[in-house]
Amino acid sequence: MIENGRIARLDSGRNVDADDLGNVAVIPGLANAHTHLEFSDFAEPVTPARPFPDWIRAVIAARRDRAGTTQRAIDGGLRECLGGGTTLLGEIATDDVSATRFGAASSAGVVFREVLGIGDDVAQDQLRIARQHLSEQTNRHDVDAIRGLSPHAPYSVSADLFQQCVQLAVTMNAPVAMHLAETREELELLRSGSGPFAELLKSLGVWRDRFWMQDGTIQSYLDVLARAPRALIVHGNYLTTSEIDFLGRHPQMTVVFCPRTHRFFGHAAHPWREMLKRGVSVALGTDSRASNPDLGLWAEVQYLRRNFSNVPAETLLELATVRGATALGQADETGTLSPGKRADLAVVVLCDDARNSISTQPAEALLHPGNRISATMRRGRWTGRN
Ligand SMILES: [Zn+2]
Repeated sequence: MIENGRIARLDSGRNVDADDLGNVAVIPGLANAHTHLEFSDFAEPVTPARPFPDWIRAVIAARRDRAGTTQRAIDGGLRECLGGGTTLLGEIATDDVSATRFGAASSAGVVFREVLGIGDDVAQDQLRIARQHLSEQTNRHDVDAIRGLSPHAPYSVSADLFQQCVQLAVTMNAPVAMHLAETREELELLRSGSGPFAELLKSLGVWRDRFWMQDGTIQSYLDVLARAPRALIVHGNYLTTSEIDFLGRHPQMTVVFCPRTHRFFGHAAHPWREMLKRGVSVALGTDSRASNPDLGLWAEVQYLRRNFSNVPAETLLELATVRGATALGQADETGTLSPGKRADLAVVVLCDDARNSISTQPAEALLHPGNRISATMRRGRWTGRN
């Protein structure tokens, strides 16, 4: 029962006043905790995928070719997400467009303003933009676009700018997202100051000696990020056991695993199951269409189902919903079907097989590969119906 855009009640049995949606399951809207909507108009991922610094170089070139035309891409991405049952996003934004389009497109989530720069000359400008972004946060508790910051990655942000950026987030009570421990090349740069990232930065003319955190460890970045009210560690592909245990002791920190992007880059096995075992908060993301063929979070879940059949279906559903909502600080508003929360819902059409087992094994049946998302509701209104 939905009233004023929120879930008023959950009843069992038949209700003659109810809308009959047919043979479907209604689930909480999906949470895509990491994407970059500015690339949503890419028909296919950017190549080469490896080595990673070459992919970054290709993305920089693609971005340069299309400067100033992101609104169409962002609107397209928001439509694609809503159509696929995603009602909550962790978006990394390089300009003001995303934050303004969220409300217009009936989307919700956190817009993390990207902070980038190695040289001292750019730091003040970046901090000014970051402060401006956060200062436009309205105080309504149920606002659609929450504002956050994203110091991009250890290889693209100086230690000084990174720490000031997190301090700003602390002061203004904003969440932070950072790409961290994503590639072996990143670890090599931090450890030795050399390798493909050093070559890339030198060729771009932005190299500075020892611009990263002094001791060159991922842990030193985690120590700073732990001060933020919320921190999303994006990817974390190469986190060590002690770093994972550190995250397990910090429930305000979440690792965002992007399964198909992880496959695209051909990384070593991701430690997400070990993280769950050690009490780390894990959520799912698609990353962008620069490394993924689409923005379908349901496709990420299906991919995990096919490749990790021993992980309980309930766990995968949690990663795709309530854990994403928690990561984005929105668990009071969405992520489960609970009275009082926003009526942000996805409708799953059940295939014949799934229909036969939905009452005995609901989570398993829900993730049957023959099912598809057919409609999405936001604040009690249908937004995407396929
Ligand atoms: Zn990313």
